[in-house]
Amino acid sequence: MSISLPTDKAVLGVDIGGTKIAALLIDDEGTVLARGVVPAPAAEGGRAMASAAASLAERLSAQTGRSIVAAGVGAAGVVDHETGTIRAASEMFVDWAGFPLADELAERIGAPVRVENDVNAFLLGEIHHGDTDGADVLGVMLGTGVGGAIVLDGRLRHGGHGSAGEIGHTPGYSDLRCTCGQIGHLETLASGTSIGLRYAERSGVAGLSAREVADRARAGDRIATDVYSDAGRALALACASAAGILDLDRVVVGGGVIHAWDLLSAAIEATLLTDSPVSGVPLIIEPAKLGTDAVALGAAAAARRTFLETVTPVPPLVLEGETA
Ligand SMILES: [Zn+2]
Repeated sequence: MSISLPTDKAVLGVDIGGTKIAALLIDDEGTVLARGVVPAPAAEGGRAMASAAASLAERLSAQTGRSIVAAGVGAAGVVDHETGTIRAASEMFVDWAGFPLADELAERIGAPVRVENDVNAFLLGEIHHGDTDGADVLGVMLGTGVGGAIVLDGRLRHGGHGSAGEIGHTPGYSDLRCTCGQIGHLETLASGTSIGLRYAERSGVAGLSAREVADRARAGDRIATDVYSDAGRALALACASAAGILDLDRVVVGGGVIHAWDLLSAAIEATLLTDSPVSGVPLIIEPAKLGTDAVALGAAAAARRTFLETVTPVPPLVLEGETA
């Protein structure tokens, strides 16, 4: 959907995580004009986070000579997207739960701000900028934890409590304790953290990252290969269950662990052969295309839709030979 944005204006997209804040400015066409990253002061509280994001925004604005007309944020944690307040967050974020991020950031940058959960923003980014068919799609983020997001009938679904699509905390995949305290969740096998832990339990070698376990698998380490196969199989089973319930035919998977897609894909494909949706339409599980920009691009897309497209309605579609 096109909007007409003056050439001295831009939309800001921000990705706020536990270790870094990344931001970019996009023009009318969705072209990235500038991008930057700063460390996230997560231990210093919400106000420090908002100020760090605002300073980065100001730098990008000065760099491009464009003022910011609207901003979107993809933020870690459970988000109330209507008010832009963080509802719940992990312990590493001090004073983040309850923080009115949209209001605080809007005050600092002088433009309206839309806040989405970071995995929701990732999925919007893949749909709007990464060529993913956006009708009915599940997004899964395999990072430190396992996050999820769902678009149905072309609309991002938040659910009654802001946590629709959270596939990482669905049960039945192991007998291991999850970071949330419950047992057997998908996250216990498929997150980057879990891949390191599962490898340590079986090999006795502790403290490796998911990437280091992947290196060992590629060098022929059988335990490392099995850990990745277990992750791929659990992921595919969870996606097949979701696809069966929601009639999905596509899942897009992002996050740091997809660097090891070569180690996940065989187990995913094998699982989908035996556990396919009852619709008869094959389920496609594919890696994300956008890399690290996805969250910020999706957040910017959400901001455009919220603040710009409503004030500049798109003219009705008229086919050749027809009158409006
Ligand atoms: Zn859990």
